[in-house]
Amino acid sequence: MNFDLSEEQKMIRDMARDFAESEVKPVAAEIDRTDAFPWKIYKRMAELGLLAMTLPPEYGGSGADTVSWSIVEEELARASAAVADAQLLLKLMSHMILCHGTEEQKKKYIREMGKGERICATGMTEPDAGSDLRGIKTTARREGDDYILNGTKRFMTCGNIVDMVIALVYTDRSKGSKGMTSIIVEMGTPGFSRGKKEELMGVRGLETSELIFEDCRVSKDNLLGQEGQGWQVALGSLDMGRIGIGSQALGVAQAAMEEAVKYAKQRVAFGQPIAKFQAIQFMIADMSSHIEAARLLLRKAAFLSDQGKPFTREAAEAKLFASDLAVKAATDALQIHGAYGYTREYPIERIYRDAKVYQIWEGTNQIQRTVIARHLLK
Ligand SMILES: Cc1cc2nc3c(=O)[nH]c(=O)nc-3n(C[C@H](O)[C@H](O)[C@H](O)COP(=O)(O)OP(=O)(O)OC[C@H]3O[C@@H](n4cnc5c(N)ncnc54)[C@H](O)[C@@H]3O)c2cc1C
Repeated sequence: MNFDLSEEQKMIRDMARDFAESEVKPVAAEIDRTDAFPWKIYKRMAELGLLAMTLPPEYGGSGADTVSWSIVEEELARASAAVADAQLLLKLMSHMILCHGTEEQKKKYIREMGKGERICATGMTEPDAGSDLRGIKTTARREGDDYILNGTKRFMTCGNIVDMVIALVYTDRSKGSKGMTSIIVEMGTPGFSRGKKEELMGVRGLETSELIFEDCRVSKDNLLGQEGQGWQVALGSLDMGRIGIGSQALGVAQAAMEEAVKYAKQRVAFGQPIAKFQAIQFMIADMSSHIEAARLLLRKAAFLSDQGKPFTREAAEAKLFASDLAVKAATDALQIHGAYGYTREYPIERIYRDAKVYQIWEGTNQIQRTVIARHLLK
């Protein structure tokens, strides 16, 4: 068994780490405060090849493997969860189009996405349906060679700035999940608009908003996959998404630990740095051992993906473990900061708010447990 990264993986990690440390970390607090999309950083990621890293070379990418991508997600999230998630959105949307799109769709969208010139939202969640996606209400009614969409999507990451969305809709509700279809809708299409921006507690800067369809007419050429395949298209990206989200959670936990270590060495109480107290040391030791465990779980899930083997359970386990860890590590790291952790003077306050989302998105942790249990009990 070999735990070493390849030379190429090490090079990608070092590049991502340098970029995150020198260019992302200094603006992370500002991204959070202004809650505005970090365009400058996004364009820099495009220049450095970090956006297109996993795209095939024929679409301008470098075909990097899932292990490398997982490492990049971790390194970016260590500096800013929002920046890491902007990269993840590109990876997942391009993955969906590469797996299910026509040649024409791939040519039209993938290269531009990798260059940071086109951002696509993943349109699943609705006001009345999140975990239970069969409860969505958005419909697409066939009319000649067109579909007419009606409905509202909520919590669309980058919704306020996206150029397009891949929307999960019902084309035939009577067939249940087999009546679901994925449709690409571009901004500028009459009847497609942005709704209210979400006031989020964390991962601010992603311009998360509603997307609304009101008698929105699109051609049948906009279907991603076949009519009735929307469920497979949507679920097909979730396993990969869980590796990315888990990796971000790991980066957030790592950042929390680093902030805790730094603060514990400088804060003096009862005549000595608080790092000398065993209560503080134990919290940091637990963070370290759990971070190492999360990293191994994530590397294994990513490795299986790269081997072309099934990784649904492993991705769910890694996401579950890493996101619970992110919350625990951020909570303990804030505790170590005492009252100062409860202010905006130190990054831990933002890290603490960011950490919580990892237990919710890409399938809540209750849903991860149902996925894992289903695999074990089938
Ligand atoms: C910041 C942010 C960005 C997001 N971005 C996107 C995006 O870009 N695109 C997108 O489509 N969605 C997005 N989401 C939505 C996200 O995927 C959903 O919030 C998530 O799937 C949970 O759905 P819900 O919020 O409706 O919770 P619900 O499904 O209503 O769940 C509420 C509670 O009930 C629990 N629960 C539900 N069903 C079960 C069950 N069967 N067993 C046990 N417990 C259960 C849940 O775990 C949760 O604790 C985003 C969410 C957030 C917070």
